[in-house]
Amino acid sequence: MKNPLAPDWLQEPKDLNSLEPRIWPRTAVRNAHGELTLGGIGVRELVRKHGSPIYVVDQEEFEARLLMVRRAFTDAASKIGSTSKIYYASKSLLTTDVVRWVEAAGLSIDVSTGGELAVALAAGMPGERIGMNGNNKSLVEIGRAVSADVGAIVIDSELEIERIASVAGAQDKVQAVRLRVNSGVHAHTHEYLATAREDQKFGIAISDVPDLVQKIRSHSHLRFLGLHSHIGSQIFIVDGFVAAAERLLDIYPQLLIDGEVPELNLGGGFGISYHRAEHPMELSELATRIASAVEARCQKLGISVPKLAFEPGRIISGPTGVTIYSVGTIKDVLVSDSGASAVRKYVSVDGGMSDNARPALYEAEYSVSIASRKSAATGALSRVVGKHCESGDIVVRNDYLPSDVAVNDLLAVPATGAYCFSLSSNYNFVPRPAVVAVKAGASHLLVRAETEQDLLSRDAGYQPEKA
Ligand SMILES: *Cc1c(COP(=O)(O)O)cnc(C)c1O
Repeated sequence: MKNPLAPDWLQEPKDLNSLEPRIWPRTAVRNAHGELTLGGIGVRELVRKHGSPIYVVDQEEFEARLLMVRRAFTDAASKIGSTSKIYYASKSLLTTDVVRWVEAAGLSIDVSTGGELAVALAAGMPGERIGMNGNNKSLVEIGRAVSADVGAIVIDSELEIERIASVAGAQDKVQAVRLRVNSGVHAHTHEYLATAREDQKFGIAISDVPDLVQKIRSHSHLRFLGLHSHIGSQIFIVDGFVAAAERLLDIYPQLLIDGEVPELNLGGGFGISYHRAEHPMELSELATRIASAVEARCQKLGISVPKLAFEPGRIISGPTGVTIYSVGTIKDVLVSDSGASAVRKYVSVDGGMSDNARPALYEAEYSVSIASRKSAATGALSRVVGKHCESGDIVVRNDYLPSDVAVNDLLAVPATGAYCFSLSSNYNFVPRPAVVAVKAGASHLLVRAETEQDLLSRDAGYQPEKA
């Protein structure tokens, strides 16, 4: 009988050692001893070398996904006689090496703060291939973007029109800009991930678009590229993208009276599988449907199809990452609920909400496997929790682990490439793990692990000579 504490969607897999390809990076396999290997390297060796926990990034998977995403959008656009510019959303996972992979694959990059811009530039990304988002860009951030000749800045409010125009004017440049629109489309995702409802901070109202485009065009130091929309994240179905595209395109005939509107940027948000029960649509299918909806709308409106732009983040980086943890303590907790009682196994690991904030932030679900060995034991409904002082400090809320899971086992949590390292913190002064890329039997450090010395280094009262 199913454990009554298990959610309806969770099925116990037939083989707890299996690695479902939709969730795991392509090089994830178990070796002859049953140990998980990534990029040809065993997880024990990775932990010996770089410590535990550790964020592992499958570089081959990352590079393949960059090309897959590029092809999906390029093919979809070419079917409607258009082109696609693809900006990797750097906030999902950003290091200088990651920027180099993105550049080598021919994609552009999306940044939303001065810090992200600094990393992209430090890695040598040409300014032309950088897009800048953000709802509250400072004069300093805009100044840096303009002087780096970034390809586009997204204007998020009326106030920013003057602000960007004045910076571009002071540098005697013409800055290309997009205008972010709150399309009002309700994405089918967690409330905090949905960004295009009326009652939120991003973008401007559809009804204000004509006036603000006129304002943008009145500045000789700004060049208007088109409208931008980002309806949210971890979206599985196409109708939200289509509805947003249609609402934006409906304004194009009016905007085209007074000038060009060369492009339409539909943002990111394409969903991935975090566990076995999630089945997102193939990206090529999704991209084709979006493109044909754009074509149909343009035909109906009697306008030519604009160039398309997209900003995918998690669909590129998410499935490339696996976090490895060590098991510290284990508890079987008897939970009684309306007469029935059942056991949930609590497995505590050496990280938690500081290296993966998504379960606490969004009630995100993940899956987990024993990584250091195979097990023939039956499944036990388990919850993987961290070492922080919060009961919401959960890494994997619901999954089955072999019932013989033991202290010092290594656990692997897949699909942690996006929004884990980038959302990490030092809560409870737990040092942040290393980020390590693996490829073809070799590992190389992307970001080193933090040390206690790092944690103390910004403390102005710290007196090393007395410690
Ligand atoms: C976060 C974000 C993205 C990327 O979202 P994903 O869900 O990672 O694809 C793209 N564009 C904008 C404006 C964003 O804020």
